Amino acid sequence: MAYTLINSRPAARAPSDASPTALAAGQGKLVDSHGRRISYLRLSITDRCDLRCTYCMPERMTFLPRKDVLSFEELDELVTAFAAFGVDKLRITGGEPLVRKDIMELMARFARHIGNGLNDLTMTTNGTLLAKYAGELSAIGMRRINVSLDTLKRDVFERVARRDMLDDVLKGIDAAIRAGLKVKINTVALAGTNEDEIPDLIRFAHERGADITLIETMPMGEAETDRVGDYLPLDKVRADLAKQFTMADIDFSTGGPARYVKVAETGGRLGFITPLTHNFCESCNRVRVTCTGRLYTCLGREDGADLREALRSDPTGAALRAAILGGIERKPKGHDFDAARLATPASPRTMSHTGG
Ligand code: SAM
Ligand code: SF4
Repeated sequence: MAYTLINSRPAARAPSDASPTALAAGQGKLVDSHGRRISYLRLSITDRCDLRCTYCMPERMTFLPRKDVLSFEELDELVTAFAAFGVDKLRITGGEPLVRKDIMELMARFARHIGNGLNDLTMTTNGTLLAKYAGELSAIGMRRINVSLDTLKRDVFERVARRDMLDDVLKGIDAAIRAGLKVKINTVALAGTNEDEIPDLIRFAHERGADITLIETMPMGEAETDRVGDYLPLDKVRADLAKQFTMADIDFSTGGPARYVKVAETGGRLGFITPLTHNFCESCNRVRVTCTGRLYTCLGREDGADLREALRSDPTGAALRAAILGGIERKPKGHDFDAARLATPASPRTMSHTGG
């Protein structure tokens, strides 16, 4: 399919007028005040979603007014600015990114930076619409995609996601693999809900040549769920898995916080993301931008910058670049999630607002 790029700015150029405080000397790269190079942007393009996962958002979620959400032009300008600052990995997320109207026109705009600033354009999706879009995503140059899947049981899926759409997700995963996308499955470990299914989910992923990463629930936003009851420490999961799988630590990274093992019985990779039991902040290379243009430099903290105001007030792009640099300089050393305080959100933002 051909896409028309309206009012698109040229691909990334090194910024010439940026105040260099957060730039690595002479390299045009973003480096924070703790010496971490920022090379990875997670960009939420919508807060809307066709599922209502209990740990993520309430059933009666109030979505943002459309005028508050960045337009295609604004999103494009933002990505162009980050790419010019040396950010070479872009993950599109949400809400559910594939529900955004004309999503492929937007993805095609981002894709023109591939090989021209960006090395990696990827997405985190719930997979319900992936059967429709997998081929087009592959065609614009996407090579890998993360699909969230917490269960293989239809009734459990309906209970967790509050929608009966497991079949669509499974078809989406198959379509992505057929389209040549390298799939990674993301599973939130939920005590008493999918705890007993984790070995099956690992086999499901590995039989398809997909990696799988387990994630602990994070105290993000008000949710109508029992966060303390849901919380399943991955140390315990790993100890249980060791009874049936032989797991060897491997030095593999996708640039994210997961620590990986190789499972001898399946030959596949299994990752653990443990924000509550381990601190992964020292190697953090990422920042997030919400669909309203708020830059968050740490998932669990409120530090950041209002990029929408900068985008809308200054058509030259100078205010945007200054706001990005200021935000990066203030990136905190680490988050303060605490397993003992799970019942109280560490952040009032839901993951659907910030982008997972
Ligand atoms: N809708 C897409 C999806 O579900 O993959 C993208 C956005 S979603 C917010 C991104 C990831 O965040 C998903 O894998 C989801 O399971 C995870 N997530 C949402 N709320 C979470 C929470 N409170 N704790 C841990 N993970 C969460
Ligand atoms: Fe939607 Fe993803 Fe949140 Fe589930 S986790 S409600 S799919 S945004």
